[in-house]
Amino acid sequence: MTLVNMISLGCPKNLVDSEAMLGVLAAHGYTVTTSLEAAELIIINTCSFIRPAVKEALNTIFYCLEFKKKGACRYLVVTGCFPQRYGPQLAKLIPEVDVWLGVDAAPLLLDSLQKTFAGEKVVRCPSAENRETSVNHPRLLTTPPSTAYLKIAEGCSHFCSYCLIPYLRGPLKSKPLEVIYREACSLAENGVKEIVLVAQDTGSYGRDLTGQPSLQLVLKQVAKIPQLEWVRILYLSPSSLTPELIEIIRNETKICHYLDLPFQHANQKILRKMGRKGNLEEYLRIIDYLRSVIPDLTLRTTLMVGFPGEDEQAFQELLNFIEKAEFERLGVFPYYHEEGTRSFRYPQTVSYFEKRRRCRNILQLQRKISRKKNREQIGKELKVLIERDLGNGVYLARSFREAPEVDPKIILKGKDLLPGVFTRVKITQAYTFDLAGIELLK
Ligand code: SF4
Repeated sequence: MTLVNMISLGCPKNLVDSEAMLGVLAAHGYTVTTSLEAAELIIINTCSFIRPAVKEALNTIFYCLEFKKKGACRYLVVTGCFPQRYGPQLAKLIPEVDVWLGVDAAPLLLDSLQKTFAGEKVVRCPSAENRETSVNHPRLLTTPPSTAYLKIAEGCSHFCSYCLIPYLRGPLKSKPLEVIYREACSLAENGVKEIVLVAQDTGSYGRDLTGQPSLQLVLKQVAKIPQLEWVRILYLSPSSLTPELIEIIRNETKICHYLDLPFQHANQKILRKMGRKGNLEEYLRIIDYLRSVIPDLTLRTTLMVGFPGEDEQAFQELLNFIEKAEFERLGVFPYYHEEGTRSFRYPQTVSYFEKRRRCRNILQLQRKISRKKNREQIGKELKVLIERDLGNGVYLARSFREAPEVDPKIILKGKDLLPGVFTRVKITQAYTFDLAGIELLK
């Protein structure tokens, strides 16, 4: 019985890979521990698409090496985007790591561990075309019991100029529809009530498969599973929205009226340099249409500032877009000049401090919008999923308007509620990001 600890860095798509690795290990007699001190085997599943993620991966590796020096840890395994990006270079740089595996490492894990137990150092980061995907591996969930991510596709074929992901994870590779349905059924049978569909771009689902099944087909199938209460879609490129997709989101009651549309920018010149379609007017038209057909829609977006060539006018256009679109949720990131991307050939024109200033300006504006949007919720009744019991009749919950981890919470006063159950609340108070409410009588 080997004790294993998993540290999963990066996005939910990476977390699904971590859970696949834990599933393989659990099925082969390993015991999962949350204690780094007790773990004999530590696995770090890394992210590395931008500099801060690389830094975090390195810091975590050096932190965990201390447990190998002083604790119970005998083997340190590093997997994911970081070794996929830098591969053999890393093995030379940090020889104390026993195994380096690239992305989607579950199929290679057991064999690599056997080799390292026999004294070998292992480096295996196959490219996308030589990689087996972990489609049939059972997962060991690490999310709260009622919620699970379901990855419907791997990789991305959009090739936005600033993005390394297609090079790290390869082109779009969708899972067959029946595999997704089987996985969703098995999650639901094991108590999951909310399924969160993820991929680099969920809207591209199926374009690489024979017959080109689409995201709406996935939604139709998954929504039929009786035990599920919520189906949520994340990471949907605005260019992948179709009238059919909007129609099913509007009409199928289990699909959360929540869309995460990473617009990235609104200035046409910048969007084209990014290798993306659309412009301010088109994007506002899409948003107006969405809000008119789905009036209770919650919109989340991700934006990037400081892309090469983003002058003050382009930035003002972005601010104008945010002001008009009134997103309920918004994340903003500075542009990172990453070697290996197409945008690396453009000269950087925005300084580090200017990027920070632009991020701050956007967040300031978003705080105002979020406060206004939250005030509109006062008096409304919402179905919520309890996430945590804080004690003394206070709970943290989420409604369809809040995705797990990234969004604010609803602070709720109630009685005898358990994490994982649904209840109804009346919203009584609005803060800048969070909401507060009381449980309605059952
Ligand atoms: S897919 Fe991208 S965001 Fe996710 S872990 Fe890898 S580099 Fe990070």
